Amino acid sequence: MLVLEGKAVFEGIAIGKISVYKKNEQSVKEEKVTDTAAEIIRYENARKMAADQLQALYDKAVKEVGEDGAAVFEAHQMMVEDGDYIDSVENIINSESVNAESAVSRTGEEFRQMFLDMEDEYFRGRAADVKDITERLISCLSGAAKAGFMSDEPVIVVADDLAPSETVQMDKDKILSFVTVHGSANSHTSILAKTMNIPAIMGCPVSLEDDMNGRMAVVDGFEGKVYIDPDPDILALKKKLLEKELEKKELLEKLKGKDNVTLDGQRIDIYANIGNTKDLELVLKNDAGGIGLFRSEFIYLGSDDYPAEDEQFEIYKKVAETMGGKKVIIRTLDIGADKQAAYFNLPAEENPALGLRAIRICLTRPEIFKTQLRAILRASAFGKVAIMFPMIISVDEVKKIKEIVAGVKAELDAEGRAYDKDIELGIMIETPAAVMLAEELAAEVDFFSVGTNDLTQYTLAIDRQNQTLDAFYDPHHPGLLKMLKMIVDGAHKGGAWAGICGELGSDLTLTAEFLAMGYDELSVSPGRILPLRKKVRETNVSEYIKEK
Ligand code: PEP
Ligand code: MG
Repeated sequence: MLVLEGKAVFEGIAIGKISVYKKNEQSVKEEKVTDTAAEIIRYENARKMAADQLQALYDKAVKEVGEDGAAVFEAHQMMVEDGDYIDSVENIINSESVNAESAVSRTGEEFRQMFLDMEDEYFRGRAADVKDITERLISCLSGAAKAGFMSDEPVIVVADDLAPSETVQMDKDKILSFVTVHGSANSHTSILAKTMNIPAIMGCPVSLEDDMNGRMAVVDGFEGKVYIDPDPDILALKKKLLEKELEKKELLEKLKGKDNVTLDGQRIDIYANIGNTKDLELVLKNDAGGIGLFRSEFIYLGSDDYPAEDEQFEIYKKVAETMGGKKVIIRTLDIGADKQAAYFNLPAEENPALGLRAIRICLTRPEIFKTQLRAILRASAFGKVAIMFPMIISVDEVKKIKEIVAGVKAELDAEGRAYDKDIELGIMIETPAAVMLAEELAAEVDFFSVGTNDLTQYTLAIDRQNQTLDAFYDPHHPGLLKMLKMIVDGAHKGGAWAGICGELGSDLTLTAEFLAMGYDELSVSPGRILPLRKKVRETNVSEYIKEK
């Protein structure tokens, strides 16, 4: 077994035979011409032909990988029409009386070098695009067909480098993975590999000799390794991983775009929990209906000082915009207890979980709170934002919060700043006190989201951080389940909707129970969305209630 390493540009596992892809690079001969005008017309015709080919490639790519993935061919069309490139070719033909092939080849090489010399990695990656269109123009001039790729069975394509046009021309169903010796993570080939959902490794010192053809290999896009002639134990291990991956993909494909509706027609919203903007990719990939909990304290925990209003605004705006019109519930900072930031200078406490934390900090230090509220409200002009307050214990607290929010809104009005005047306000239900006051609290807000992690801690009097108590920390405790029912009933009576954003929300053994209780939303980590959607779609709530 030979193990090679490279740069993984797309995760996944591929197992199959290797097929070495070789370009039929064309050698260009310089020839003197007498009729330079005729040579320029040949070049013009070749450009038109290349543009038509690129249009066809663009159309194929749009169908296969969508507009973003196809954009590279639009860029290539623009390069074919690039004034500097055309000037250079015509200049060489006119001044040196040489054939168009040679003028194109020299211009292409000069432009490619220019990109390679650039500091910016992205622009260096464009050198491959210049090479690609130069080769296409030369093929059009000489009438030679561009190199193709044919295989009867799906294979792992191994190549020195791959141009985007080569990548997209390959039959997608016949490619398990790309492994290239060269190529940057910024290249369009890697971008295309990502959009095609194909594991890809670049910068891998793999041999391109003919005897590689047909050899068995495993590509592990998680660890960036290629195993050639894998040992049986490695093969068995990777096969298991692949099966898991395929299961996940199947689930994803089948359930994307589907409703979260039970067999007997009950709907529920399934949203995602996030900690930062990096999670957004997963949120979209897993088809979340919105964001049910953005733990904004991670912005504070990742800073050395209080994050400024504008800094926060940009982050919230990005989340709101990325989610389009879908709901984004931003929880105000839930700092304290296990989430400590030194610059808050919080006093050392005997019982931090029962101490100065979350909304208690916001209410005692309103300037910090107001900065965050301003940032969230300003971001609400860019999407469908809602604000949620953690660790609530009383109606009075909510009234105080609402006064502060009204004050911040008035400030923004006075400054003429845009925000969503009907922004939804909600609270987390994490304390037994809030459970007991559910109906009264619901009358004050638009929604509840149950933080089952803390509600379990505070109801069972078990420190959630204390590992030695794990055996006692039982979120299925009948007392807690009773509370969950009280919460949703109280919410609905008081005119609010109710969701669950604690870990229990993704516990599939309770999905039917949550639906039966009447919950309107469950917010879970992105990777749990599709399994939860599957569970909801397999549940018959009335049957479940009958059988209980
Ligand atoms: C919870 O307590 O359930 C919750 C969602 O908040 P966190 O886990 O951030 O405390
Ligand atoms: Mg909590």
